[in-house]
This record gives sequence, structure tokens and C-alpha cells, in this order.
Amino acid sequence: MSIRLTILTALVLGAPCAFAQDYPTRPITLLVPFAAGGPTDIVARSIAASMTKTLKQPMIVENAVGAGGTIAPTKLKSSAPDGYTLLIAHIGMSTAPALYRSLPFNPVTDFEHVGQVVDVPMTLLGKSTLPPSNLKDLIAYLKANKEKISFANAGVGAASHLCGLMFMSAIQTDLLTIPYKGTAPAMNDLLGGQVDILCDQTTQTTPYIKSGKVKAYGVTSTTRVESLQDLPTLAESGLPNFSVVVWHGIYAPKGTPKPVLDKLVAALQAGIQDPAFAHKMSDLGSQVVAKEKATPEGLRNHLQAEINRWTPIIKKAGVYAE
Ligand code: ASP
Repeated sequence: MSIRLTILTALVLGAPCAFAQDYPTRPITLLVPFAAGGPTDIVARSIAASMTKTLKQPMIVENAVGAGGTIAPTKLKSSAPDGYTLLIAHIGMSTAPALYRSLPFNPVTDFEHVGQVVDVPMTLLGKSTLPPSNLKDLIAYLKANKEKISFANAGVGAASHLCGLMFMSAIQTDLLTIPYKGTAPAMNDLLGGQVDILCDQTTQTTPYIKSGKVKAYGVTSTTRVESLQDLPTLAESGLPNFSVVVWHGIYAPKGTPKPVLDKLVAALQAGIQDPAFAHKMSDLGSQVVAKEKATPEGLRNHLQAEINRWTPIIKKAGVYAE
């Protein structure tokens, strides 16, 4: 091998290392599977603002919406593994494998896992003019009016879809579901009275519940939410064992270099401990995860545990999307 070739080979082999050391040198795109202004988008923009403080580069949110949140992970799968395209996704990563007959990605094996971010309970809401004012009356009302009721969600694979599935199964009543590209547009239609009910994360619903613009029938966690203390859990109001908590994780394309991943994990760790992020999340009824969950192993283990939890429930419900 000539000396020139040896130097060239050394430069090429050394390139990823130098690249990783300098990372990031330009803005990072953070893919969000749902519409701007909705709950996942709110978490995304909040954690991005905090991670930017460590990474010293802007994190720009791109809403890659549609197909119940499966478009954005599909896009991530074909993105360059260079740390400049990331994804924040929620519980849907663990339900999509059972819900979709042909899912273009495997959430466990097709990505690098950066870490978990925050856990968010959901709330069951009705439009402000819906007559019932508690869960017991709502269930009776839905059963009596099931042909007239519309139940909004963000598509098959969304948390709102999962919550709706659990709720309709718990009350043994099928309702007409209306899919949106996120729960931000679904909430707009609930406020406008075009749809009747919606199950959605507290990250979006808290201000509307507090201002009385919607009727709230309960939270989906097994314990009450501190910032919405007056709102009972669905479990305590007559649907024992009802439990859906939406968790979020950050993903990178498979093959992202370890030094880049390490920098992202460090920025995530700093982000979840940033008081600005933590306060905003707790005001919105959410729980920032413990440090050990904001790691690749923390996300991987939780993702696998959630796939194991939801797959039999979804199979039993017999719901599929193509
Ligand atoms: N809350 C939505 C869901 O149902 C997603 C969103 O718009 O953030 O999954």
C-alpha cells in the first residue's frame, strides 16, 4: 500500500470518530408522529428546548403525521444514522406491532433507543354540551344513544385509539370513531361540538378541563393526577382496572455511532432534570421519568414490556389495520 493510500485510509477510518466528536454541528430534526399543538407535539417541543441547552444546536420539530403515528417511525427508519434526524414517539410504538398487519418497521430491532422522557395520563372528555356530568351517567347515556355518538381519535395506533378501545370494551358498547391526524384537530372539533367524546393526554387537556371548556369524566391512571385533584380516576368511578398511561421515548436510526448516541443520552438526562421542563410537565399532569429510564436500556426494556402487555389485549379485541 502506498503511503498516500495509507494516509487516505486512515483519514476515512478516522472520519466517523472526528464527526462524532464534533457532533452536533448543525440543527437536528425531531420527527413527531402527530399534528402540531397536540400532546406529543407539546412534549416534543418542550424536551427539544431543554436538550438544545446541552447540544448547543437547535432541535427542529417536524410533524410527520398520519397512519395513527406510524409514518414518522417509517421515515426515521430510512433516515441517515448521523444523529441529525431523531424521533419522539409514544406508547403507540408498543401497540402498532399488534395493530398493523404489515408494519414497515420493528420498534425493537430497527432503531437505536435513546431513552424515555415522560409519562402522561389521559382524560376522558365530552363536549361541553354533552348532558352527563359523571362517568356513571355518561356510560348510561352512551349506551342509550350509541348510534348518535362520535368518538374522536388520532387513528389506529394512537393513544386515543387505544384508550377508546379499552373504554368501549369496558362498557361493552361500540361507538362510531372518527380518526384525525393528531388530537390537536380532534380537540378543536370537540370544542366546536362536531364530535362528542375524546380520550386524550393531560398535556393537551389540562387547560381545557380547568377552564370548563370540556366535560371531564375521569383520568386513565390508577391514581389521581396532582394538578387535577378533583377529577376521579375511571377505575374509582366504576371501571376497575382501567389503566392507560402514555409514555414517550426518543429514537435514532439504527447504526447511529455510539459517541453520538452518548451525547444524545447526556442531553436527554440534562433535559429531564431541567426545571423548566420538569415544571411544565408537572403543571400538565405529567411525570418526568427517573434518570435510569432516560437511557437506551430503560427505553428498550420498557418498550419490550409494553409490547408484551398490549399484544394479547389487542389480539383479543380483534382490531387490525392494514
Ligand atoms: N394524543 C394523540 C394520541 O392519541 C397524539 C397527539 O396528537 O399527540 O396518540
